[in-house]
Amino acid sequence: DGKIPHTFVIFGASGDLAKKKIYPTLWWLYRDDLLPKPTKFCGYARSKLSVASLKAACLQYMKVQPHEQAKYEEFWALNEYVDGSYDGRTGFELLNQQLELMENKNKANRIFYLALPPSVFEEVTVNIKQICMSVYGWNRVIVEKPFGRDDASSQALSDHLAGLFQEEQLYRIDHYLGKEMVQNLMTIRFGNKILSSTWNRENIASVLITFKEPFGTQGRGGYFDEFGIIRDVMQNHLLQILSLVAMEKPVSCHPDDIRDEKVKVLKSIEALTVDDMVLGQYVGNPEGTTEDARTGYLEDPTVDNSSTTPTYALGVLKINNERWQGVPFILRCGKALNERKAEVRIQYQDVPGDIFEGSTKRNELVIRVQPGEALYFKMMTKSPGITFDIEETELDLTYEHRYKDSYLPDAYERLILDVFCGSQMHFVRSDELREAWRIFTPILHKIERERVQPIPYQYGSRGPKQADRKCEENNFKYSGSYKWHGGKPT
Ligand code: NAP
Ligand code: NAP
Repeated sequence: DGKIPHTFVIFGASGDLAKKKIYPTLWWLYRDDLLPKPTKFCGYARSKLSVASLKAACLQYMKVQPHEQAKYEEFWALNEYVDGSYDGRTGFELLNQQLELMENKNKANRIFYLALPPSVFEEVTVNIKQICMSVYGWNRVIVEKPFGRDDASSQALSDHLAGLFQEEQLYRIDHYLGKEMVQNLMTIRFGNKILSSTWNRENIASVLITFKEPFGTQGRGGYFDEFGIIRDVMQNHLLQILSLVAMEKPVSCHPDDIRDEKVKVLKSIEALTVDDMVLGQYVGNPEGTTEDARTGYLEDPTVDNSSTTPTYALGVLKINNERWQGVPFILRCGKALNERKAEVRIQYQDVPGDIFEGSTKRNELVIRVQPGEALYFKMMTKSPGITFDIEETELDLTYEHRYKDSYLPDAYERLILDVFCGSQMHFVRSDELREAWRIFTPILHKIERERVQPIPYQYGSRGPKQADRKCEENNFKYSGSYKWHGGKPT
């Protein structure tokens, strides 16, 4: 785009996401000279703020080094803030005047980031379309989850947006798609013959995709209680990872070729039923060392004390196609568990025609998304030395060792930069969203209608025991015999 100015507009600039994620990300991109020049930034919300007060509110999240101070001031000098309502026209007219001023009335490209609650989403997008669009440059709109709460509400939102913008202008963020190891899935699968040849039902027994969080709702469960863990993590983040693990090879690396394949594999998945799931809700641990650990979900004052909202969920998905028929894809996620972790575990089948008296264990490829990016492959080896015993070991690629000096940008840094570049590869297309809701809506409605009781599990545990049993029933074997000799991931 040469020297065309860019203007980045943050709606809901007074909010949590803006100060914790969006402003820090913009600063880091600016600091590293990754943004096109010139780019300016303008916040918008109802609160009567100034750039100075916004700057003060963001400071603790910006990680400014002493030697960056001058550049940091430069960054804020490129910022403006306009206050106004979300429903009337006046605020948006003032905003548009401010944007034109910042762009010196030149042709400019505009990015609109909607960091707002869904309740004001429709009026804000209408106002953007009617009043704030750049006439000669391009316009792109970044949208945050939740994208509805079931198939109907999500479709209504998609229809609303489609009435205002082209799909090419819409960037639906799923920040898991910005993570290093998730972005690496395509390369791992399609850049390695040894993996691409074995990536199928002839070789793979089961696939386990896990997200674990070691804390509860910490007194802020009000928002969560309306959504639950299935909508918060499984229907979006975990299903996105699944589609990248399971899709066929795209025709090219073009974003639409990739998204076509993701939609195709989602279409082969049947809607979940109650039998495919294990639901849990955490209870306090009386011996917990923190207040949070002693507090069960229902004791969170912002949560209704008869709530049946799951804080843990396991779902077994079946992909009905030639590559995957019969291979369970197990998605698991939960709050208040024993550790923080997100990973993909590809478990291979037992070796046929055993000659080792049953002592071989299954190969497992583990792709650890967080913490500490790593990829390791569990395999059998002869115990070193004079013996002929066999034991489990691993081929290990730990990023902090192999790529010691590489800087891995935060997910939001990659994604916001993608929006500047016009790459929709790591954003969710409306047809992907539709398929995701098709798979999850019936079970969500059933759980809510019938108030299906979640199984209690203790804060800080690994979740309900029934979940391990479900994994076993679905061809995931855990032996407990594998020993890792390296340190803890950081
Ligand atoms: P937030 O702080 O609750 O809201 C952002 C701003 O919107 C507020 O500062 C407020 O600004 C305005 N606002 C809040 N409630 C409103 C209401 N009922 N009516 C009209 N305006 C209201 O939200 P957030 O945490 O920044 O999140 C923004 C969006 O990102 C949400 O859709 C959320 O679901 C999504 N999201 C957030 C996170 C996160 O980490 N926080 C993560 C993923 C997705 P004024 O009062 O100044 O107008
Ligand atoms: P593992 O000990 O064989 O565990 C495999 C899986 O079984 C994990 O998902 C585990 O945790 C689950 N599990 C644990 N207890 C269970 C039980 N009683 N019943 C059923 N499932 C159970 O192998 P691993 O977890 O791959 O590796 C062991 C440790 O070594 C981990 O801390 C790992 O991070 C570390 N390691 C690190 C690297 C590296 O940094 N490069 C390489 C290799 C290993 P959940 O079910 O709770 O998720």
